[in-house]
Amino acid sequence: MSELELQQLALDFGQQGYRGKQLHHLIYKRKIKEIDEFVQLPQALRNELQEAGWKVGRLPVHHMVTSTDGTIKLLLKLVDDRLVETVGIPVTDENGSVRLTACVSSQVGCPLRCSFCATGKGGFSRNLQRHEIVEQVLAIEDIFKHRVTNVVFMGMGEPMMNLKSVVEAHRCLNKDIQIGQRMITISTVGVPNTMKRLATYKLQSTLAVSLHAPNQKLRETIVPSAKAYPLEALMQDCRDYFLETNRRVSFEYTLLAGVNDSVEHAKELAELLHQWGRGHHVNLIPFNPIEGSEYKRPYRKAVIAFSAALESRKITTSVRQTRGLDASAACGQLRNEFQKTPLVKDADAAGAEMQQSQEVALAS
Ligand code: SAH
Repeated sequence: MSELELQQLALDFGQQGYRGKQLHHLIYKRKIKEIDEFVQLPQALRNELQEAGWKVGRLPVHHMVTSTDGTIKLLLKLVDDRLVETVGIPVTDENGSVRLTACVSSQVGCPLRCSFCATGKGGFSRNLQRHEIVEQVLAIEDIFKHRVTNVVFMGMGEPMMNLKSVVEAHRCLNKDIQIGQRMITISTVGVPNTMKRLATYKLQSTLAVSLHAPNQKLRETIVPSAKAYPLEALMQDCRDYFLETNRRVSFEYTLLAGVNDSVEHAKELAELLHQWGRGHHVNLIPFNPIEGSEYKRPYRKAVIAFSAALESRKITTSVRQTRGLDASAACGQLRNEFQKTPLVKDADAAGAEMQQSQEVALAS
């Protein structure tokens, strides 16, 4: 809740508005997790808040997997016993300071079924509410005992299909948790009529569009939802978004060996981007293998050649470093067997099963 909402809550409980300010401080600055520990508030108010069912949000961690590179994947349990995945990615720069990125989910599962993505294969169950998105970031802070500096909406789900909660969570992350807007990225494969809506919020965050192909024909085979949203319309919307917000759109391109990773594809991509604007940025993601997929990860040589072909055509390009591969936490690898069907009530049995399946995943 925002400070204003907390002030209203205080008023609703017959208190003065400044109690809302206090609540905001206790929740977001002091990061106190139990209402009982809000000792600055009168005991009677604490009791009333608890009796009315109010809680300080923290989703319980159902399972945690640590990768050898320090990346941690959390499975968080929602109130309806579904699990959602969140990844914490620490990076230490040359000066020794740590940047901590939270890769958050916006939905449980995903309805869009991109052919190379594990989340889509598991089906869709529901949208996350704003607090369920924010609590993922708080969970990462708790585990790492470090503040989250960057947030990417690149976990499970398609953020533009849950725009209301994503924008509300963005507001909270920025205004209440104090993560800079420029440190937040929203990633979308493209959902008709949503970019215009997002543009009205004039966020100073990066919008990343998952392109994966330089032409409609190929894109349709990789991204089924592209049939309903042709590439030309998508590029037009990206241009309008830029004109409206002054924020450049960046493009993600998952490289699938032998499918979309040739130098010819790179040239076509450069042409496409030049046609629609200037100074684009492309983020290349070498495919991270997922179970049951025919796609292959490209050789390093192909990735370098693709990137060089873009760079020589004045398209700035970065290659995403793969993190968390051994924890199945790398891009597109997020999937859990409880995204569609909630956990069975006997939590211990489910936990044991989960443990086993994780071990199999790690061993294979
Ligand atoms: N629904 C959003 C967020 C998806 S995850 C979107 O489509 O943009 C972030 C990025 O990881 C997307 O570009 C997605 O296409 C990519 N991705 C998904 N699965 C992948 C995989 N197995 N290997 C590499 N990248 C993958």
